[in-house]
Amino acid sequence: MRKKIIAGNWKMNLSSSEANELYEALEKLNVSNNQPVKIIFPPFIYLDRFLQQKGHFNVGAQNVSQFSNGAYTGEISASMLNSLGCTYVLIGHSERRQYFNESDTILSNKVKQSLQNSLKVIFCIGETKEQRQNEDFLSILNSQLKVLVDSIELGNFENVVIAYEPVWAIGTGLNASPEQVEEVHLSLRQSLAKMTNDTIAENTSILYGGSCNSTNAKTLFSCPNVDGGLIGGASLKANDFFEIIAASANS
Ligand code: PEP
Repeated sequence: MRKKIIAGNWKMNLSSSEANELYEALEKLNVSNNQPVKIIFPPFIYLDRFLQQKGHFNVGAQNVSQFSNGAYTGEISASMLNSLGCTYVLIGHSERRQYFNESDTILSNKVKQSLQNSLKVIFCIGETKEQRQNEDFLSILNSQLKVLVDSIELGNFENVVIAYEPVWAIGTGLNASPEQVEEVHLSLRQSLAKMTNDTIAENTSILYGGSCNSTNAKTLFSCPNVDGGLIGGASLKANDFFEIIAASANS
């Protein structure tokens, strides 16, 4: 059975003390270890301290190097993250694709490095506004999905989560409608079945991301093919994030 997951991407936000305050507020609010699986993605430099707390939240990395180790100044490897106790990594976020020119080859290498080092991957895909308006955007999403599928062995799919994040919905306050989200998630699940098999397609969690908040979460999560959310802005406010977690638990 696929898991419900709520993941908070803090991006490049919060000072050291602000990060502590948010973490403490979240831990106070959250009393349950039940579903959904809860993950926070703080900036790299705060990972260790939150991992040491061993609280209710899985702690993941927002990025990972495509290389295994060596002379790559400023990079953080998958094996380092694993050695710290990190469990999840985000790969393919549209901000990394857009601002850091992460190509399909780079993303594929990152997926391989992560799985080889026992990290679970949340792989983000999504179309731009222009792509949705002018082109067959479902085929664009399929080609992004294929990069993931071609990077891993079928047996490793239990360590992979897909996040559908339309680029036009990220940080804009304009979430995709439940109908738009369900159309894409269903299509992705059908494509995944063709690219792999029915069991993998049925058991792989597909999250929605893009201006998801405490007001719209319940409706979005009630879509049959939505298994939770990847949350940006609203994950920086403990009460809002907690309400989104509750919406997932009750969906
Ligand atoms: C994201 O960056 O993954 C995201 C979904 O951001 P937001 O919720 O702020 O749109």
